[in-house]
Amino acid sequence: MQTPIPLSLYDLTREQMAHQLAEWGEPTFRAQQIWRWLYQRLVGSIDEMTDLPRPLRDRLKQTYALGRLTIVTEQHSSDGWTRKWLFRLADGSEIETVLMEYDGLRRTACVSSQAGCAMDCSFCATGQMGFLRNLRSGEIVEQALWVARALRTKANSHERLSNLVLMGMGEPFANYNNIMEAAQRLMAPEDEGGFSLGARKITISTVGLVPGIRRFAEEAAQINLAVSLHAATDALRDQLVPINRRYPLRELVAATRDYLRKTNRRVSYEWALIDGVNDTVEQARALVELVRQTNPRASVNLVHVNLIPLNPTGGYAGHASRRARIQQFRDVLTQAGIPNTLRIRRGIDISAGCGQLKAETAQAGPEKQTSE
Ligand code: SAH
Repeated sequence: MQTPIPLSLYDLTREQMAHQLAEWGEPTFRAQQIWRWLYQRLVGSIDEMTDLPRPLRDRLKQTYALGRLTIVTEQHSSDGWTRKWLFRLADGSEIETVLMEYDGLRRTACVSSQAGCAMDCSFCATGQMGFLRNLRSGEIVEQALWVARALRTKANSHERLSNLVLMGMGEPFANYNNIMEAAQRLMAPEDEGGFSLGARKITISTVGLVPGIRRFAEEAAQINLAVSLHAATDALRDQLVPINRRYPLRELVAATRDYLRKTNRRVSYEWALIDGVNDTVEQARALVELVRQTNPRASVNLVHVNLIPLNPTGGYAGHASRRARIQQFRDVLTQAGIPNTLRIRRGIDISAGCGQLKAETAQAGPEKQTSE
């Protein structure tokens, strides 16, 4: 029997917090005070909530953990633009979170939605490790706030977290309620003491769980959607992304099309370019066809293709496509009028690149810190 893990303050919705405080006989303004400490001042402990009476702080500490992430390692990429944290959760499972900094003000946290992943995509390190469990909403929220705090405390800067992508470990739509709750909580407005991250600054990436896409189309929040395609024929996608056997391309494209029709928002198709596997002209042409089928109206293109050369992972023998092949692939898309971008690979040297997130504690060693 596992001992139940105590709730953390980040697991609570605003209503739950208010309800708890009312139960304890606290005045209603306390909820807002605590919310500010959590989501705006980004405290590291309940004791830092200095405008709360001592007995209330004690009661909070007895009932809740502040958070549940314990840092195991922090790594910095050699170019200084990417940082990765390995966290241990209260039940011992481990997850990774990445910060990507860009020129200008864009500061993006890439957070995990599950410990491990059940989708088993052949080229993805998380897929190779298997599934452990869904993260709670608070564990997702806390990753984002951790990154926000790291930015704030950076030497001589008061940088803000500007973007959030659910592209870390796990399949977000396999943990639908918790990821949406986490997003909502991070979107709470500033005047309510919230973190006030804009919906348009959040992107959820799915392997292509059709029921999730259909449900997501009904959400009011204008959160962005990315669909990991990687292959434009069922024969190839069955191999790379096995969930394709359950939700084949025809159904995936239909769901994405319905999402676009309903929301009129843009969607991106993600494509990891693998040498000699999915970087052929035939695949590019088939992708053009799929993009056309996805757009609900011929006159407006709402689909963007995001290409990324494959990142190396231990359990997969494929290599990143070579430059000439990438160019050839892109030319097919561009000539067909399909907007596409080639993402630069980031944080490869610290295994913080797309699909590389996997807990390798033994290798990294405990409490390893790189100098700032
Ligand atoms: N489960 C979600 C989030 C996964 S990670 C999804 O499938 O979308 C985010 C992106 O990284 C996905 O597009 C995923 O397919 C991609 N990815 C996984 N392994 C990769 C690798 N080794 N190289 C490049 N991209 C990879």
